[in-house]
Amino acid sequence: MTPGPSNIRECPACEGPSAPVAADDRTVLYIDVDGVLQHVRDDRWAPRHDAAEFLEWALARFRCRWLTSWRNPNETVPGELGIRVPPGIEEVRWREAGPFPPFKAIAIRDDEDWLWVEDAPSTFDIDHLRARGATDRLIRVDPLPPSVRQTGVFERLERASRVPPK
Ligand SMILES: [Mg+2]
Repeated sequence: MTPGPSNIRECPACEGPSAPVAADDRTVLYIDVDGVLQHVRDDRWAPRHDAAEFLEWALARFRCRWLTSWRNPNETVPGELGIRVPPGIEEVRWREAGPFPPFKAIAIRDDEDWLWVEDAPSTFDIDHLRARGATDRLIRVDPLPPSVRQTGVFERLERASRVPPK
Protein backbone atom coordinates (compact mmCIF):
# COMPACT_ATOMS: atom_id res chain seq x y z
CA MET A 1 0.00 0.00 0.00
CA THR A 2 1.27 3.42 -0.90
CA PRO A 3 1.47 5.73 2.11
CA GLY A 4 -0.78 8.73 1.88
CA PRO A 5 0.41 12.31 2.25
CA SER A 6 -0.43 12.36 5.94
CA ASN A 7 2.03 9.63 6.87
CA ILE A 8 5.06 10.43 4.76
CA ARG A 9 7.84 12.85 5.50
CA GLU A 10 10.72 14.11 3.50
CA CYS A 11 13.96 12.38 4.27
CA PRO A 12 16.20 15.15 5.67
CA ALA A 13 19.26 13.56 4.07
CA CYS A 14 17.61 13.43 0.67
CA GLU A 15 17.14 16.23 -1.78
CA GLY A 16 13.68 17.55 -2.45
CA PRO A 17 10.26 16.02 -2.05
CA SER A 18 10.86 13.14 -4.47
CA ALA A 19 12.25 10.80 -1.82
CA PRO A 20 9.68 10.52 0.97
CA VAL A 21 10.24 8.01 3.74
CA ALA A 22 7.58 6.34 5.82
CA ALA A 23 6.92 8.20 9.05
CA ASP A 24 8.19 6.50 12.18
CA ASP A 25 6.15 7.73 15.10
CA ARG A 26 7.64 5.36 17.63
CA THR A 27 8.90 6.89 20.84
CA VAL A 28 12.52 8.03 20.69
CA LEU A 29 14.73 6.38 23.28
CA TYR A 30 17.88 8.23 24.35
CA ILE A 31 20.47 5.78 25.69
CA ASP A 32 23.40 6.47 27.99
CA VAL A 33 26.32 3.99 28.05
CA ASP A 34 28.04 4.10 31.45
CA GLY A 35 25.51 3.11 34.09
CA VAL A 36 23.10 1.67 31.52
CA LEU A 37 25.12 -0.74 29.38
CA GLN A 38 27.84 -0.84 32.02
CA HIS A 39 27.59 -1.28 35.78
CA VAL A 40 29.91 -0.52 38.65
CA ARG A 41 32.07 -3.45 39.72
CA ASP A 42 34.98 -2.97 42.14
CA ASP A 43 34.80 0.82 41.61
CA ARG A 44 35.13 0.40 37.84
CA TRP A 45 32.75 0.21 34.91
CA ALA A 46 32.13 -3.28 33.58
CA PRO A 47 29.81 -4.27 30.71
CA ARG A 48 26.44 -5.66 31.77
CA HIS A 49 26.03 -9.21 30.49
CA ASP A 50 22.63 -8.49 28.95
CA ALA A 51 23.52 -5.10 27.44
CA ALA A 52 23.38 -6.41 23.86
CA GLU A 53 20.04 -8.06 24.55
CA PHE A 54 18.75 -4.76 25.90
CA LEU A 55 19.83 -2.89 22.76
CA GLU A 56 18.14 -5.46 20.49
CA TRP A 57 14.98 -5.23 22.56
CA ALA A 58 15.04 -1.43 22.55
CA LEU A 59 15.60 -1.18 18.80
CA ALA A 60 12.56 -3.37 18.16
CA ARG A 61 10.38 -0.93 20.07
CA PHE A 62 11.91 2.52 19.94
CA ARG A 63 13.83 4.85 17.67
CA CYS A 64 17.10 4.68 19.57
CA ARG A 65 19.68 7.44 19.91
CA TRP A 66 22.91 7.53 21.86
CA LEU A 67 23.09 10.24 24.50
CA THR A 68 26.49 9.55 25.98
CA SER A 69 29.97 10.98 26.46
CA TRP A 70 31.32 8.06 24.43
CA ARG A 71 32.55 9.20 21.04
CA ASN A 72 31.26 7.24 18.06
CA PRO A 73 29.53 4.65 20.28
CA ASN A 74 28.44 2.48 17.35
CA GLU A 75 32.12 1.55 16.99
CA THR A 76 33.61 2.14 20.43
CA VAL A 77 30.96 0.26 22.44
CA PRO A 78 31.50 -3.02 20.54
CA GLY A 79 35.24 -2.41 20.16
CA GLU A 80 36.07 -1.44 23.72
CA LEU A 81 33.28 -3.08 25.73
CA GLY A 82 32.60 -6.16 23.64
CA ILE A 83 28.90 -5.30 23.58
CA ARG A 84 27.22 -6.12 20.27
CA VAL A 85 25.50 -3.02 18.91
CA PRO A 86 22.82 -3.62 16.28
CA PRO A 87 22.70 -1.11 13.43
CA GLY A 88 20.28 1.78 13.62
CA ILE A 89 21.23 3.78 16.71
CA GLU A 90 21.88 7.41 15.86
CA GLU A 91 24.49 9.38 17.81
CA VAL A 92 23.38 12.70 19.33
CA ARG A 93 26.17 15.28 19.32
CA TRP A 94 25.00 16.88 22.53
CA ARG A 95 28.32 18.41 23.58
CA GLU A 96 28.65 20.34 20.34
CA ALA A 97 24.99 21.34 20.44
CA GLY A 98 24.76 22.23 24.09
CA PRO A 99 25.72 25.16 26.29
CA PHE A 100 28.48 25.38 28.85
CA PRO A 101 28.54 23.70 31.26
CA PRO A 102 27.43 20.93 28.94
CA PHE A 103 24.35 18.94 29.81
CA LYS A 104 22.49 16.34 27.84
CA ALA A 105 18.86 17.37 28.19
CA ILE A 106 19.29 20.40 25.94
CA ALA A 107 19.80 18.02 23.00
CA ILE A 108 16.50 16.21 23.57
CA ARG A 109 13.83 17.41 21.17
CA ASP A 110 10.29 17.97 22.38
CA ASP A 111 8.69 17.78 18.92
CA GLU A 112 8.59 13.99 19.22
CA ASP A 113 7.71 11.58 22.01
CA TRP A 114 10.79 10.46 23.93
CA LEU A 115 12.21 8.61 26.91
CA TRP A 116 15.73 8.76 28.31
CA VAL A 117 17.59 5.98 30.15
CA GLU A 118 20.36 7.49 32.26
CA ASP A 119 22.08 6.69 35.55
CA ALA A 120 23.45 10.10 36.47
CA PRO A 121 21.66 13.14 35.08
CA SER A 122 23.32 16.38 36.15
CA THR A 123 21.55 18.99 38.21
CA PHE A 124 21.39 21.04 35.00
CA ASP A 125 19.61 18.15 33.30
CA ILE A 126 17.13 17.78 36.15
CA ASP A 127 16.41 21.52 36.25
CA HIS A 128 15.97 21.62 32.49
CA LEU A 129 13.58 18.65 32.47
CA ARG A 130 11.62 20.13 35.35
CA ALA A 131 11.22 23.43 33.50
CA ARG A 132 9.93 21.49 30.49
CA GLY A 133 7.57 19.39 32.62
CA ALA A 134 9.37 16.28 31.40
CA THR A 135 10.88 14.66 34.49
CA ASP A 136 8.60 11.64 33.98
CA ARG A 137 10.38 10.97 30.65
CA LEU A 138 13.65 10.24 32.47
CA ILE A 139 14.15 6.57 33.40
CA ARG A 140 16.88 6.57 36.02
CA VAL A 141 18.99 3.45 36.07
CA ASP A 142 20.75 2.01 39.12
CA PRO A 143 24.41 1.52 38.05
CA LEU A 144 25.09 -1.25 40.56
CA PRO A 145 23.23 -4.40 39.44
CA PRO A 146 25.22 -6.52 36.96
CA SER A 147 22.35 -6.89 34.52
CA VAL A 148 20.05 -4.44 32.80
CA ARG A 149 17.13 -6.70 33.66
CA GLN A 150 17.82 -6.36 37.38
CA THR A 151 17.38 -2.59 37.12
CA GLY A 152 13.77 -3.04 36.01
CA VAL A 153 14.41 -0.94 32.90
CA PHE A 154 12.58 -3.28 30.53
CA GLU A 155 9.36 -3.07 32.52
CA ARG A 156 9.69 0.64 33.22
CA LEU A 157 10.20 1.45 29.55
CA GLU A 158 7.20 -0.62 28.53
CA ARG A 159 5.06 1.16 31.09
CA ALA A 160 6.32 4.62 30.17
CA SER A 161 6.10 4.17 26.40
CA ARG A 162 2.99 5.59 24.80
CA VAL A 163 3.31 3.24 21.84
CA PRO A 164 2.67 -0.41 22.75
CA PRO A 165 5.27 -2.94 21.55
CA LYS A 166 4.41 -4.79 18.32
MG1 LIG B 1 26.03 7.39 32.72
